[in-house]
Amino acid sequence: MIQINNIHKSYITGQNSLHVLKGIDLRIEAGEMISIMGASGSGKSTLLNILGILDNYDSGEYILNGLKIKKLSERKAAQLRNKMLGFVFQSFNLVSFKNAMENVALPLYYQDIPRKKRNLIAMEYLDRMGLKEWAHHLPNELSGGQKQRTAIARALISKPKVILADEPTGALDSVTSLEMMDILQEINKTGITMVIVTHEYDIAARTQKTVRITDGLITEIINN
Ligand code: ADP
Ligand code: MG
Repeated sequence: MIQINNIHKSYITGQNSLHVLKGIDLRIEAGEMISIMGASGSGKSTLLNILGILDNYDSGEYILNGLKIKKLSERKAAQLRNKMLGFVFQSFNLVSFKNAMENVALPLYYQDIPRKKRNLIAMEYLDRMGLKEWAHHLPNELSGGQKQRTAIARALISKPKVILADEPTGALDSVTSLEMMDILQEINKTGITMVIVTHEYDIAARTQKTVRITDGLITEIINN
């Protein structure tokens, strides 16, 4: 599903260049659930953003579902993201002035699906997350776990092949974090490939494989 070969990435700010990814090789099979662990600043989010076609890389190769991803136009990148990828973030990234249903429906807005229909579909996905009763609440009226379940429903609504989650439990208490992992494992069982960045061992242990990044390089891969 995902293959990256010798990926390098530097950030350039003013005169300074920061070499963040220093030759990453990684292969993720369709249907796999893997975690990426590493110290803060080791390049985890940078890697995930490249996998998510949210950012470019400098050299190397990225093949997503058989398609070479390199210097795409923003339009083409957005199309691919919409078709292939779902995102879950530590900070949920919900739109604060839209209710849960409208947040979940948002990806369908970009697919030009009429409002009534997209809200109906959004309700199905909220129901799957046990949040039907919360559909008309704004994000600030939801608990952390409810916000993340809303974000997961939003990620699922466009039927992605891959879900990329950047510290999805980072803002949740430990009980809610494990509930979130139950949900992500259930989703993985439906065949969706899952990549989870975390710095918590008990979260990583719930995935099939843990990839350790140290200072921009993969230093260890553990089968859990
Ligand atoms: P992690 O997610 O593992 O904590 P990141 O991938 O976010 O690490 O960051 C890796 C390094 O790159 C850090 O030193 C960070 O400060 C730097 N960095 C991240 N994003 C940018 C950016 N947009 N511009 C400049 N430097 C960045
Ligand atoms: Mg990060």
